[in-house]
Amino acid sequence: MHYVKTIIASNPDFEKPLPGNKPYLEVAEFFYDTIQGEGINLGQPAAFLRVKHCTQNCWWCDTKAVWRAGNPYTLEELFELMDATDLVEKLQRGQHLILTGGSPLKQQKGLTLFLQAFRERYGFKPFTEVENECTLMPDPEFASLVDVWNNSPKLSHSGNPDKLRYRPEILKHMASLPNAWFKFVIVLEKDWQEIERDFLQPGLIQRRQIILMPLGGDRTELHHNREMVVAMAIRETVRYCSREHIELWNKKTGV
Ligand code: SF4
Repeated sequence: MHYVKTIIASNPDFEKPLPGNKPYLEVAEFFYDTIQGEGINLGQPAAFLRVKHCTQNCWWCDTKAVWRAGNPYTLEELFELMDATDLVEKLQRGQHLILTGGSPLKQQKGLTLFLQAFRERYGFKPFTEVENECTLMPDPEFASLVDVWNNSPKLSHSGNPDKLRYRPEILKHMASLPNAWFKFVIVLEKDWQEIERDFLQPGLIQRRQIILMPLGGDRTELHHNREMVVAMAIRETVRYCSREHIELWNKKTGV
């Protein structure tokens, strides 16, 4: 994986003090020259800015160890780190910037400032995708800077309390935004009944926005689950997506 370039590596043993009153982001890892591994833009060359903290605690989360170990970086520090690489050039050429977590919406104020300051400094805004667990309402200012919403509401099998994971008013709002997709992690056949009962029948989201993705923390698990999910997607006339980073790099993070 010589082509993946790291700006900030995940390091649970590293602790950085909070910066005074300057705007900052708590960043778990930051890397580029890789691809979007999931969702509607699977395969797209991309940079990943993974922020710390999440609103959920899914039992199968494969990035928990990473997003729990972030550190505060001022916007200026982030830009200086970026300036020492060719990331800005790659973003200008069309690499997508994926804001992921954890929960990007937990730091949407900082991310708004980051994207605005980016535009001021470099004269353009990168094509921006946001991974979103759909439990926090986006500010209009932040939403205006997002090009694609990769929403991923959690089903009951995630182990999160219903009140914490299922927010109908937020789902309905997210579905009304342009370029909003809803990617569901599928573990069992009965997951479709839950999608139909809790998301489609109440009219919160539309069928054309749905993407089904198999649970797959490693290649073995992904390969075990994917045929069932492909069959479900065909039967229900919705999209299927794999987890291409697992196919390529198995359990390795930071790629
Ligand atoms: S919402 Fe995403 S990042 Fe948060 S615990 Fe669940 S899988 Fe992990």
